[in-house]
Amino acid sequence: MTDHELPSAVVVREVGPRDGFQNEPERIATADKIRLIEQLARTGLRRIEVASFVRPDVLPQLDDGVEVLERLEVPADVHLSVLVPNVRGLERALEHADRFHEVCVFASASETHNRRNVNRSVAESIAAIEEMVPRVRAAGLRCQAVIATAFGCPYEGVVPAERVLELTRRLEAAGADEVGYGDTTGMANPLQVRALFRRLRAATGEGLELTAHFHNTRGQGLANVLAALEAGISTFESSFGELGGCPVPKGATGNIATEDLVSLLHEMGIETGIDLAAVLEASREVQRVLGRPLGSHLLLAGPIEWPGGRPAAG
Ligand code: ZN
Repeated sequence: MTDHELPSAVVVREVGPRDGFQNEPERIATADKIRLIEQLARTGLRRIEVASFVRPDVLPQLDDGVEVLERLEVPADVHLSVLVPNVRGLERALEHADRFHEVCVFASASETHNRRNVNRSVAESIAAIEEMVPRVRAAGLRCQAVIATAFGCPYEGVVPAERVLELTRRLEAAGADEVGYGDTTGMANPLQVRALFRRLRAATGEGLELTAHFHNTRGQGLANVLAALEAGISTFESSFGELGGCPVPKGATGNIATEDLVSLLHEMGIETGIDLAAVLEASREVQRVLGRPLGSHLLLAGPIEWPGGRPAAG
């Protein structure tokens, strides 16, 4: 890949059923969740995050995760993942290990965010991850480790790239298959993204999948996607309908929308294997379930129409 070439294909993990549903004010009925996930699984998406094993009293929106997992019917080539906050959560998740393929564990890059999120130090979270990753892999599952606030912290401000690199090395050494980088409150800009991912790509083994998780809090999400592509990143996480967000800053919009991401990629000639119209239909369906409009651009404008056919990319 030369400096100006982008990956020819990209993998998208849909995180709306976890990251999205968790951060919407309404509690979505279990049957609706299952129906929406099954609809997403027919769009060509091959990875979907569907449940969380955070304590139900902490996260009542997702307290039906086990029921969702047990009742879901998806094609065999669709890989499901679950979020696990700690060793106890992992132990509960592994009781249902036949129902999913990947486990996501996480820590924040900044001390204050980690404490506010899980009431532990970063060192304690990383130590727990180092204990969990081998157990995930011993169960025959993939393990993704996510670094939240990787591009900036709403409490501490600048997150040094060296800290993100050091955490990445720890996670890679622990045996993670994939490391994800969360722009948890939408602070990243494209130049920072490109520089950080170039350093991360250079510092890690080729076998380690690096994943970008951008929020569109201030409209910079898709610009950050292009910057990550330029740094050789080819796995992205997004949320149908632009569901979700973060309690801080209050009322902020959420993850980049899957339909906006897929449209951008397809317009640039990058394959995803995803049927854009089918994702949009799922987003319209979740709007119906919630009874209010959601924020994605494609929901408002629809896909680009090219009378006479789409021009060659570039
Ligand atoms: Zn997110």
